Amino acid sequence: MMKMKFSKIVLPATLALTLGVTAAASAAPQSNPNGPYIEDNQNISLSSYMSNADLAKKLQNLEASSNGKMKLEIAGYSNQSPDGYKTESEKGEPIYVAKFGDNDPNKKRILITAQIHGNEQIGAEAAIDVIQKLSSNGKEVEEILEEVSIWIMPRINPEGADNLYEGKWYPTRYTHQTWLPENIGLPADTLAPWYYNSDGSERAQNNDGRVVYGIPGYDQNRDYNPNLDFRVENQDLSEVTSFLNDRTTNNSNFGGFYVTAEARTVTSVFKDFQPDVYVDVHHRGFNTVSDEDNRSVPVQFAAAVADPYTDPFTGEQYEVDEDVLTLAKQVNALSALTLQKGNSHFGAVQKYPDVNLPGTALGAFALNDASIMLIEIKGQSQTLGQKQAGMLKETVTQPLMAVFKGLADGSIHDVDTAVYDEIPESSNRISDPTTRD
Ligand SMILES: [Zn+2]
Repeated sequence: MMKMKFSKIVLPATLALTLGVTAAASAAPQSNPNGPYIEDNQNISLSSYMSNADLAKKLQNLEASSNGKMKLEIAGYSNQSPDGYKTESEKGEPIYVAKFGDNDPNKKRILITAQIHGNEQIGAEAAIDVIQKLSSNGKEVEEILEEVSIWIMPRINPEGADNLYEGKWYPTRYTHQTWLPENIGLPADTLAPWYYNSDGSERAQNNDGRVVYGIPGYDQNRDYNPNLDFRVENQDLSEVTSFLNDRTTNNSNFGGFYVTAEARTVTSVFKDFQPDVYVDVHHRGFNTVSDEDNRSVPVQFAAAVADPYTDPFTGEQYEVDEDVLTLAKQVNALSALTLQKGNSHFGAVQKYPDVNLPGTALGAFALNDASIMLIEIKGQSQTLGQKQAGMLKETVTQPLMAVFKGLADGSIHDVDTAVYDEIPESSNRISDPTTRD
């Protein structure tokens, strides 16, 4: 059905019921063995784990079977970005982009990234599912790709995704990279960006807390900057040094430093493509909808993650334009509507908590004219394993296919933004029984 009319859509009862419930109360930590969190003695199944080699093979096969619809490219490497920036590790992992259509400005353009945090595996699997759908034949896909170019980067943190601990796969949030300020012209004792994980530690699979796998790295999703051209090597180095050595500036209120080749690579793709819509797929914790509605929330969405921003180095001002925010709300609203199926838990969506994070990919790109959607699937690889993976992937693929169609026939612009405003706020978090924080 290509000509859906959203102007007549009323808010589904399952969403409306919970309006006004903004209780921020945290539910009690899970106290039964069937709760969402993995207990000490539970083994989680990570059997469908996809190594970087597996992923490459899968993508190559999909390209071959796509009848020319998909072009697979290596956008950069985890140790080397297209602008020549190199990190210390010798062996870099390729960062793939699957391209359906080109960057023709006359087409609608949407960029999707997943697994910016290496331990967020289902995002990459959902991205592969979307690639698979777009590679197949059929009228639906044909009509979409006539109007819309879609670029998908299923795993933008390949090193964290394929991390090993004691010889076994142990995916981590962080990239692999050591803070070596002298390599970028800064004094050796310059403090690292605040999102550096110096000991290489990660939450554990059970109640024992953390593991130290010992490879330092960064939270790539704080390394972006609203000034997409910010490069330490092009800055006044003494200014950068003072900025880093001062905790009142070296924090999440400011953009990141583009010290990872991964963030630079993704940004180069963004600049080349200039998408109308940018979607980043993540994982998060567990919530129920409200005190009255105990359905487990499969997914949270957000159309905004960054306040107006003034670049501390250039003084330049960035803000999300009104029409950009409107389309973002329409994309998120359509996604939420797509998941409403009776009273099933598919529809138990919430809005991600209000944040201001200019150093995230979503924040930096929203401040550069992309309408964004944050998708946060419940659970981490370590806490949920492959439990419910099939259902959770659908909470990504179904909204995305609907957004593609809405962009193709223009019906996305008829979606009422009030639907987004009325998505229940994040609440009723089920706190983690472990001490990991
Ligand atoms: Zn994440």
